[in-house]
Amino acid sequence: MTIRDILAHLDSTREDREELYKYFHQHPELSLQEHETAAKIRSELDSYGVDEVIEVSGTGQVAVLRSGDGPVVAMRGDIDGLPMAERSGKDYAAEGRTQVNEATGEETPVAHSCGHDVHIVSLLGAVEVLAAHRDQWAGTFLAVFQPAEENAAGAKAMVDDGIVDKLPKPDVYLGQHVLGTLPGGAVGTRVGPVLSTASSIEITIHGKGSHGAMPDLGVDPVVLGSAIVGRLQTIVSREVAPKETAVVTVGSFHAGTKSNIIADEAVLQLNTRAYSQEVADHLHEAIERIVRAECQAARSPQEPEFRYYDAYPLTDNNAEVTARVRTAFDSYFGQESQELAAVPASEDFSIIPDAFGTPYTFWGLGGFADWKNAPGNHSPRFAPDLQPTLDRGVEAIVVAASPWLAADGA
Ligand SMILES: [Zn+2]
Ligand SMILES: [Zn+2]
Repeated sequence: MTIRDILAHLDSTREDREELYKYFHQHPELSLQEHETAAKIRSELDSYGVDEVIEVSGTGQVAVLRSGDGPVVAMRGDIDGLPMAERSGKDYAAEGRTQVNEATGEETPVAHSCGHDVHIVSLLGAVEVLAAHRDQWAGTFLAVFQPAEENAAGAKAMVDDGIVDKLPKPDVYLGQHVLGTLPGGAVGTRVGPVLSTASSIEITIHGKGSHGAMPDLGVDPVVLGSAIVGRLQTIVSREVAPKETAVVTVGSFHAGTKSNIIADEAVLQLNTRAYSQEVADHLHEAIERIVRAECQAARSPQEPEFRYYDAYPLTDNNAEVTARVRTAFDSYFGQESQELAAVPASEDFSIIPDAFGTPYTFWGLGGFADWKNAPGNHSPRFAPDLQPTLDRGVEAIVVAASPWLAADGA
């Protein structure tokens, strides 16, 4: 029996999966508030006859599918939407959809503009075909439905809630993301760093308030902050080696209320990206060094404060695991198995496999036939083609798992 026999099953479920996708697309939910999404996933899983569904943190859950002895393969699908309004023009768009943000009480627009609804339906589809064909594979398949990727909280919440103790240790951990940067239907793999680290830093610098006409009596945090913003530009241009890639962006700089008042303090918000942990660490060290030194140069009366948040680790695909998946993709997908360029985005995907000490790989799935004009993830126009995306999302999971689960491969 072969993977092709298992996947022939998709012909009979295509319409149902498209309907299911439209349901999730029209019911996007904010990070850590994926209540309806989790309930719908649960009812689907129950109808497939999985062995067990384990809840891990609020809206996270893992379906366990066993078929005798063999390796343990985990596949992650993230489930959250984004706080933005959809403008895809699709007849199944979630236009006008809102959800009350539980933290702020505000009615917030919400949309699946990152394509996590594709990830949900692909993973459900893989569970369904594997459950229906247990006689054709051996081992354990874990379907990890992970909340809150968009605020980097979900994978960490599952680890904090003891996912490592609640599940058997996976031999391999897999993940995928639908993208507009690959031809529609293509699957893209890459060995090594595939997604960057990211971190946000809020920096409070202290001046000394004064009348705008008496600057000598104060310490001006606007002048100090401006010097900091200028000097920060030298980190990437003068401190990071030319062969490396890094970004330091000052996305926000707030100080003052009126033209003739020198403010007491200024608050800067920075975002950093890097494709190696060494470079990421260097960026943080350099930022703190420069800010402290500029504060001293400006005779700031108080040490600056640094608050780190929204930190994403490096996604660094394991060479051996990626090579096995690539061989399986090449054999099944032929020309549509491609090399993926490093993606200038970040993910919390690697937090769970790192907690297990399990090697991982994360691949890209092309979602648009007209990919040269495709909107990027997080665009209000981001809504992938239904097909071949939905079929390919399931196929990619089953094919990627096959070197571990099927003795005779594809
Ligand atoms: Zn996203
Ligand atoms: Zn995403």
